[in-house]
Amino acid sequence: MKKVVKFGGSSLASAEQFKKAGEIVRSDKARAYVVPSAPGKRYKSDTKVTDMLYTCYEIAKSDKDFSKQLKAIKSRYDEIISGLKLDMSLDEEFKIIERNFKEKAGSDYAASRGEYLNGRIMSKYLGFEFIDAADVIFFNEDGEFDSEKTNDVLGRRLAGMSGVVVPGFYGSLPDGKVKTFSRGGSDITGSILSRAAKVDIYENWTDVSGFLVADPRIIDEPVGIDTITYRELRELSYMGASVLHEDAIFPVRREGIPINIKNTNAPEDSGTWIVESTAQKSKYTITGIAGKKGFCSVNIDKAKMNNEIGFGRKVLQVFEDNGISFEHMPSGIDTMTIFVHQDEFMDKEQQVVSGIHRLAHPDSVEIEADLALIAVVGRGMKSTRGTAGRIFSALAHADVNVKMIDQGSSELNIIIGVANDDFETAIKAIYDIFVTANI
Ligand code: ASP
Repeated sequence: MKKVVKFGGSSLASAEQFKKAGEIVRSDKARAYVVPSAPGKRYKSDTKVTDMLYTCYEIAKSDKDFSKQLKAIKSRYDEIISGLKLDMSLDEEFKIIERNFKEKAGSDYAASRGEYLNGRIMSKYLGFEFIDAADVIFFNEDGEFDSEKTNDVLGRRLAGMSGVVVPGFYGSLPDGKVKTFSRGGSDITGSILSRAAKVDIYENWTDVSGFLVADPRIIDEPVGIDTITYRELRELSYMGASVLHEDAIFPVRREGIPINIKNTNAPEDSGTWIVESTAQKSKYTITGIAGKKGFCSVNIDKAKMNNEIGFGRKVLQVFEDNGISFEHMPSGIDTMTIFVHQDEFMDKEQQVVSGIHRLAHPDSVEIEADLALIAVVGRGMKSTRGTAGRIFSALAHADVNVKMIDQGSSELNIIIGVANDDFETAIKAIYDIFVTANI
């Protein structure tokens, strides 16, 4: 059994957190590959090292004195080194960084040093070998991640190896320059490593015990999710639930490697398993609820629309011509509705309305703003009768007016449109009927 273990920023924010991470790695021989993030926040108002690096580099870029900012960053690492009583110094590393900042090595290079230095410390602390991500993770000329080259080189490099640290978040371009993934990208590195090293489990250590059924800012202490499929997770993260970087799913998914989200501060908690497929039923029929505010609907009416071949295409053409992507498109016999992001749509609304009139000659076009979409996701819905009925009676009881319903043919989710103002009430009502009522 082999595992990749990735630690998030809060798991490595201080010497104390580092010790917990060290304990976790040492307690299981299978934990052979370690991916660290940069030191995160130690307390709520603290600043992540990655953010400190971006700021510092901005100052360097404008040829101003950045020594104070760099010193503050170095002291974050020195504090960890001394707290762990390690016999090492980053003086030389910081000289190189200072020089590269002066030579304008780029903000990606700057940000990547957060993970790079934490990786150096981690490798010393664990006695593991250090592999620089720039040597094994590759992007192409267009700046896109080169999955096959990476898998090939990294796979060969790791073959037969155990006890390795690879810093998260970055790799290199064909010209050797450092390039980072988008924010939170260490999750992706962990996934890439899992695939290349052909491990059995990708453990992702963070500061929560896995995913929650609903957003804790809306529901007080929501229950956790034991097991979730990749597809369910994709639906939920698309709708705003976030713990794992969205792109972290792809490398492991193609190999069927499960991800286990774990809590560094409560390692005995089983956390959430993200799997390809499972016979395990979710406890509450639904797996999770997520949603977003800020949508507009464009309702188009035309008598006998059902007979008019090409009507839908003409309408969608207008959205395409205006560079607006649509989110959902429920339709009736003589109506169709297009849901779009309000902020994308606002500037172009009149062009869209006149465009639809010109191309499709509808009877009327009406716009409704300030709508929210809620996704109720669950693999269990397929085999359970009455799920939709329960959702809508709960919403009716809570006095929430449902503006739109969309159930995908996969029967994996039901999307509900409500007014922005009803968003929280609706999520509470759905949570209560499926979860609170069944605890
Ligand atoms: N340190 C990077 C960030 O703050 C990447 C990561 O933590 O995953 O976004």
